[in-house]
Amino acid sequence: MSTTNFTIETDADGIALVTWDMKDRSMNVFTEEVMDELDAMIGTFAGDAAVKGVVITSGKDGTFTGGADLKMLNGMFEQFEARKKTDHDGAVQELFDRAGRMSWIYRKLETSGKPYVCAINGTCMGGGFELALACHGRVAATSAKMGLPEVKVGIFPGAGGTQRVPRLADTQAALQMLLKGETLSAAKAKGMKLIDEVVPQDELVAKAKEMLKAGLSPVKPWDQKGFKLPSGLVYSAAGAQLWPAVASLYRKETNDNYPGARAIVKCVYEGLLLPIDAALKVEQRWFANVLQTTEAAMMIRSLFVSLQELNKGARRPRNVPAQEIKTVGIIGAGFMGAGIAYVSAKAGLNIVLIDRDQEAADKGKAHSEGLISKLVGQGRATKEEAEALLRRITATSDYAALSDADLIVEAVFEDRDVKADVTKKCAAVMKEGAIFASNTSTIPIGLLAEAFPDQSRFIGIHFFSPVDKMMLTEVILAKNTQDKALAVALDFVRAIKKTPIVVNDTRGFYVNRCFLRYMSEAYDMLIEGVPAPMIENAAKFAGMPVGPLALNDETAVDLSQKIMKATIREAGEAAVNAEHFKLVNRMVDDEGRLGRKSNKGFYDYPAKPAKKHLWTGLKDLYPQQKANDIDFTELKQRFLVTMALEAARTMEEGVVTDPREADIGSILGMGFAPYTGGTISYIDGMGTTAFVALCEKLAAKHGDHFAPTPLLKDMAAKGETFYGRFAPKGEAAAA
Ligand code: NAD
Repeated sequence: MSTTNFTIETDADGIALVTWDMKDRSMNVFTEEVMDELDAMIGTFAGDAAVKGVVITSGKDGTFTGGADLKMLNGMFEQFEARKKTDHDGAVQELFDRAGRMSWIYRKLETSGKPYVCAINGTCMGGGFELALACHGRVAATSAKMGLPEVKVGIFPGAGGTQRVPRLADTQAALQMLLKGETLSAAKAKGMKLIDEVVPQDELVAKAKEMLKAGLSPVKPWDQKGFKLPSGLVYSAAGAQLWPAVASLYRKETNDNYPGARAIVKCVYEGLLLPIDAALKVEQRWFANVLQTTEAAMMIRSLFVSLQELNKGARRPRNVPAQEIKTVGIIGAGFMGAGIAYVSAKAGLNIVLIDRDQEAADKGKAHSEGLISKLVGQGRATKEEAEALLRRITATSDYAALSDADLIVEAVFEDRDVKADVTKKCAAVMKEGAIFASNTSTIPIGLLAEAFPDQSRFIGIHFFSPVDKMMLTEVILAKNTQDKALAVALDFVRAIKKTPIVVNDTRGFYVNRCFLRYMSEAYDMLIEGVPAPMIENAAKFAGMPVGPLALNDETAVDLSQKIMKATIREAGEAAVNAEHFKLVNRMVDDEGRLGRKSNKGFYDYPAKPAKKHLWTGLKDLYPQQKANDIDFTELKQRFLVTMALEAARTMEEGVVTDPREADIGSILGMGFAPYTGGTISYIDGMGTTAFVALCEKLAAKHGDHFAPTPLLKDMAAKGETFYGRFAPKGEAAAA
């Protein structure tokens, strides 16, 4: 027997080996067709007395499956939204049935009377791992990785994952894995009892067959009489200890912002009180419920669909053939340059790392040595890989070494004259057609391009620190930048496995512009007398990973002061909020509180193991309001609205042209509350009319910086969304 997506070979012992290998796809994913075929196969095997057992594996090298095709899920959403308008109950029922199909098929497999073993040859995620959990035995290759990452894109494992994991593993470990969407190594999965055997790749199928021949039961433990949950009953002494802690941990980790995470806790709690069939129904109901939330729709769109599209080069000009980038020159081996050199060399590129003298260049290369040695120490890289990486970096002060570079990235001091000087030196030795990029964070690319003889080849590539951890880059187009420069910049960003957003030239570009609003709002709150702990907590409750005052300490308070001084020099005193300027001057000049680097800023940083804590003197800076008089919900809204409003301004000004980039840039660049789907999805999610009303309410209380822009008012009047009005067109949309 053979199907479009699976091949089946039955051996002399009556064991059917099912190999999943989708043609024209690099990775197996669950589509409607795959599910139809799986469903039919299970039925056929169940009725075939000659089949004694089944092994399911994948024909793809290194991967079993990436999970469900979330695009299919997205399509399901769209149909749901469309039908809901005229037939609400029918739409909900259809969503429930379609969302539950996978779960139902797996239960059919589990109770079909034939024993199944899943042979996990490589990465096995989401619905694929749930298939494995439904099988009666699981064997994994040593290098295989597996997990249920759905919570990260706003949903949760809805095909039995929340029921079978806590019936195999202990409840605490199960919840942790499900709530984090953690990826497990084969060894860790075995430790949790989610996998039975771990063997070398080439013994995988043989081991699976051996398990069947040894008489593996086709009845799951939870379908047998006397089954005991690994952590005992929910209503037991152990359960009474565990569950209150789970509730508080869940709130601490998520601030109750993620319906997918909330549903996991509910599914596990409610499901463990019930027999498996009823428990699976509970899971299915919650799944259909979560699918209807704004958070799920926004997170799937941004964090799955858009992220993949941008990574695949949605904004890359198609008229320029793929550019092979072999050698990259990096000028300035400081904090950023050294980081860029590391990620580029790690991606296999040859690097020429230049600084003012050999010593400074060597110091920059030593950064790579430190990072890669750490990976070797952790067993995440081999010694040979480390040596090869370091061999690819040439540290020098000699510009002649740049003659082979296809691309140069400048990361010297943030000073226009210094940058102009090195730009000219590079231009003198660069090969024809090579591209020059600046990593400036504040100077408009158009101004820097003036020092370069051919402005069409000049572009901005703005990295974020720490470079090895931050996944975003902002690619900045100046007025004269041409397609070839954009294509090379995007090919480079893709090679080093970062996500690009493409923005037009302006001061602060996109991310820093929005992010400055975050800190600025915190300054306003301090000045109003909002207690500092409330400020930090409101930001975190709103979904931001780090409070604005803690963040300002990381970026340095004196840097904020420097930026304000530079702005006053360039644009006059009115360009800076006088009260904010007073606040940073007081912090820096009077108190010597420069931030984390001086061990004191908005926080105090005592010697370890003591933890940082907010500086108690903050409450003496401004008369304090009483906590009970403060609207906490409004504090949370102020943070998100001020950043989202700035994002809307950047779209109105044409700095950002594609809402997907505004969303992804905000989540990856500044950690903007991921459950919203990003700055623009935050607005679209609540609707422009509601957003404009909220802005007007906040503007009346807290100032004009909350006033909605003309574009927003126009969109609200017409009932438009950003994704509707600024829908990507042509090639970008199709990418
Ligand atoms: P840094 O001071 O750590 O490094 C600058 C390096 O440039 C130093 O090693 C210095 O010796 C070298 N340099 C200075 N003049 C030079 C010259 N004439 N020729 C060769 N080398 C020279 O600074 P950084 O934080 O790495 O910032 C570098 C650039 O990256 C700046 O434009 C900055 O705005 C931008 N940037 C910084 C961050 C950040 O978080 N620090 C983030 C994004 C972008």
